[in-house]
Amino acid sequence: KVRVRFAPSPTGGLHLGGVRTVLFNYLFAKKHGGDFILRIEDTDQSRYVAGAEQYILECLNWCSLKPDESPVVGGPYAPYRQSERKPLYREYAERLIAQGHAYYAFDTPEELDLKRKDIANFQYGHAHRMSMRNSLSLPMHEVEQLLHNGTPHVIRIKMPDDETISFNDMIRGYVSFETAQVDDKVILKADGMPTYHLAVVVDDYLMKITHAFRGEEWLPSAPVHLLLWEYLGWKDEMPQWAHLPLILKPDGHGKLSKRDGARLGFPVYAMSWTDPKTGEITQGFRELGFLPEAFVNLLAMLGWNDGTDQEIFTLDELVEKFSIDRISKAGAKFDFEKAKWYNAEWIKNSSADQLKLKVAEVLHGKGITIINEDYLIKIIDTVKDRCVLLADFYQQAGYFFKMPVDYDINAVKPKWTLSKTEFFTELKNALSYSETFEPNDLEARFKALAEEKSLKLGEVMLPFRIMLVGGKFGPHVFDIASLLGEAETLRRIDKALE
Ligand code: GLU
Repeated sequence: KVRVRFAPSPTGGLHLGGVRTVLFNYLFAKKHGGDFILRIEDTDQSRYVAGAEQYILECLNWCSLKPDESPVVGGPYAPYRQSERKPLYREYAERLIAQGHAYYAFDTPEELDLKRKDIANFQYGHAHRMSMRNSLSLPMHEVEQLLHNGTPHVIRIKMPDDETISFNDMIRGYVSFETAQVDDKVILKADGMPTYHLAVVVDDYLMKITHAFRGEEWLPSAPVHLLLWEYLGWKDEMPQWAHLPLILKPDGHGKLSKRDGARLGFPVYAMSWTDPKTGEITQGFRELGFLPEAFVNLLAMLGWNDGTDQEIFTLDELVEKFSIDRISKAGAKFDFEKAKWYNAEWIKNSSADQLKLKVAEVLHGKGITIINEDYLIKIIDTVKDRCVLLADFYQQAGYFFKMPVDYDINAVKPKWTLSKTEFFTELKNALSYSETFEPNDLEARFKALAEEKSLKLGEVMLPFRIMLVGGKFGPHVFDIASLLGEAETLRRIDKALE
């Protein structure tokens, strides 16, 4: 059975690249009837950030990418938080030592700093390991003594001096590394916690992971992981790797990083993130007014397509169409304008019923309480094609609920004439005697009156719109009047004529 995992370290908000990794894991699992596992990789306590795990869970929930196994729902391989699995990793590190594939290292942080100062591009590896204090360079009895005394130490993998390691990546094909270039990574830290390298291999093995999708930034770590799989005797069960292409800045120069958002003027986080230390809030796609369906859709298209021109996909369609062969090797440029286009399409294609709660929330945030749901539904249907972000519903629909206060009547005033005042005064009568308040009926009366007064339609249509809406925007003006209803329409005309 296919089993994939998303294995984030809870160090902060989720970057859109992180959510795309979740998505591709999820799509692959569901496409093959498999399981999607969420495992929290929190072994680096110095990078642990309170609230990050909760944020990740909420984010998966927002995107409807629900894990089959996780720290919250549990599962047959619990616990799913690595810090809670701490006792089980040491055994594997010791096993590697017994086999001669790993060793104890006693170097203090000061000693390591000194080396780094002395030797340019110092790597703790085959070139220097014998000049350091470890169980390979020190006599056995000294090592025993140090261990006996409880001297702080780490365990490092012993990389072969000169081997070529290769594997077949599902996206990148054949990939190879020279072990001489890779340092002897720490696998178990002085506090007894494994590092990512050991924990990811042990847990992928114990949790029976079959395919592992992760960002391309992890490719340099792959040789260490491959060797650990081999040394621990699990090579045949190693997952197939897929290193996903990077998401690039809009100009294609370099990876889109968490810091880029503020500078480039668009969010890079899925949902807003509040830094627990500084209280600083970084706005996310959700809070900016993206629909989760649109967000998921646009992420899928960053580095993948189905081979046709189709761009709009529901999550179910993505599951059905997803295939690894169509993931590109090249990085995908992030284009915020295009991202907004996806959202506008999704708003347009959603029914008013699907949007009503979200729109009500936006309006509520602006002090508008919805009392009549039918009215809201009609309004959403009238204006949704004009909204790119959910927040736009306030601009595009707020005037249906609140008489415009700071309206742009001056845009019309300079050309105001007495005949226009007359027109609108009479319009009130004309409208209130109309049989229905249907747009066509209103339009007919409006036109007839304009003709009677020898006014060009445009001269009175725009003022009428501004009276009702507050500005030069919005749908057809008679649709607006009809929705507002007779009393409110007349009230707004009165107000404007005051
Ligand atoms: N814990 C790693 C991260 O934070 C996971 C990398 C992997 O999937 O192997 O991204």
